[in-house]
Amino acid sequence: MTAPAPHAWDAEVDVAVAGGGACGVMTALRAARDPGLTVAVFEKSTRDGCNAAISSGSLAAGGTRWQAAAGVEDSPRRHADDIIRAGGDEEWRPVVEALCAAAPDLVHWIADTGYPVELGLDMPRAGMAARRLHTDTGRLGGARLMRHLRGLLDGYGNAAFVDEAPVVDLVTGDGGVTGVAVSQNGVLQRVRARSVVLATDGFANNPALVGEHLPHLGTPFYGGVSTSTGDALGWALRLGARLRNMGAGLRSGLVVAGHGTRVSPALPFNGAVLVDRDGERFVDEESKGYSSMAGVLRRRPGERAAMVWDAAAMAATRESEMMRESLAAGAVRDCPTIEDLAGALGRTVEETERALTPLPGRRRLTAPYHLAWVTHGLLTTQGGLVIDPGGRVLDGAGRPIPGLYAGGGTACGLAGPHSDGYLSGNGLLSAFGMGWIIGNALAGR
Ligand SMILES: Cc1cc2nc3c(=O)[nH]c(=O)nc-3n(C[C@H](O)[C@H](O)[C@H](O)COP(=O)(O)OP(=O)(O)OC[C@H]3O[C@@H](n4cnc5c(N)ncnc54)[C@H](O)[C@@H]3O)c2cc1C
Repeated sequence: MTAPAPHAWDAEVDVAVAGGGACGVMTALRAARDPGLTVAVFEKSTRDGCNAAISSGSLAAGGTRWQAAAGVEDSPRRHADDIIRAGGDEEWRPVVEALCAAAPDLVHWIADTGYPVELGLDMPRAGMAARRLHTDTGRLGGARLMRHLRGLLDGYGNAAFVDEAPVVDLVTGDGGVTGVAVSQNGVLQRVRARSVVLATDGFANNPALVGEHLPHLGTPFYGGVSTSTGDALGWALRLGARLRNMGAGLRSGLVVAGHGTRVSPALPFNGAVLVDRDGERFVDEESKGYSSMAGVLRRRPGERAAMVWDAAAMAATRESEMMRESLAAGAVRDCPTIEDLAGALGRTVEETERALTPLPGRRRLTAPYHLAWVTHGLLTTQGGLVIDPGGRVLDGAGRPIPGLYAGGGTACGLAGPHSDGYLSGNGLLSAFGMGWIIGNALAGR
């Protein structure tokens, strides 16, 4: 198997979590409620960060109290059906349903710990039958949420968050996983654990693995953190684990070329249009999720297009963290007149007028306009380890590998086999949802 069973352990805990991002911290928070358990989170480097902290922090949940208050009809079942319809992976339904069932409980719990949650009624997304993205009231994104959750973990005397301590391998024995090997200040420590949770996210920053599994992406802008190097996949594979849907990613067709910020996915629902370098409209902007739109942009001239919107669309979206960052970065060009817009697009006024022709039932944009050249990017991978609905890592025969759990980007995600199947909110749902499920089960033992 992997690292040889050591003669002596350097430390012992009940639960060892590899990775202190969304899944890892949620697992630890839920497990540590049991005072009889000791929990350690080993984090590669908070300086380099986790994707949860650079995310928009949008939490997808169907059947919440905010939806009820707003008269939005939704349920975990409806949520799961949307995910399966988008991704087409019916076989994965048991995991999807378990996560969607956990989602309202975990978002309620996050709010009940003092975090200001609201329903994003202004956050429509392709593929969603109901408004179900929840966010913080200030729209500050995932950094605020992760600070809050890590702060909560500090309050548990039976839990430790060990930073700058990458897990480098699993320790095995007795036919299962018995601990982790951790590198601290260059010294290898062996930590014994009854349960090990892999929460190290995906492999989007591992060029060899991306080249092997997602060669169709070409050379996208990379918008995730440096720590996503797929470390845990090799350890689990050596124990007989399986991989699934490795060709899927969370892509974005909203990355501003030359800046790396993103514009709001709500823009197309407020009338924004996409015009390519030849001055052509090429897609129904509302019909595509941003992950799917990345594939469309990759096929356009120069692998980019101009997103054009007006003052009304700007007013409806400017408070999102994505728009604030793009505006602050100077990534948005203001075009007071149609002549200015035509100049920015490199087309004649007539061609520009034609490009702005609204699709049936949509409104016409009016001056003043705003423009950003958007391209495609890769944010995270969505393929990973096969798990059961309880987060247990399964081997080739479908049997749980004793002592081993995985969630978030380390496990197979919810997009199905292709990036086009990614629905907004799937990433944090897999991560917080599986952390919730695994941590609750460990605490309940
Ligand atoms: C720009 C951007 C915006 C996004 N917006 C959203 C959104 O609004 N809603 C949504 O649902 N999803 C969003 N996502 C996706 C979401 O952030 C991820 O799916 C989610 O964070 C995955 O959670 P995780 O716990 O698996 O990984 P992470 O949150 O990335 O945490 C993994 C942690 O593991 C650590 N680690 C890695 N290797 C090791 C190792 N060997 N040992 C110890 N620690 C290790 C890393 O340092 C990191 O801290 C976004 C992603 C990006 C990049």
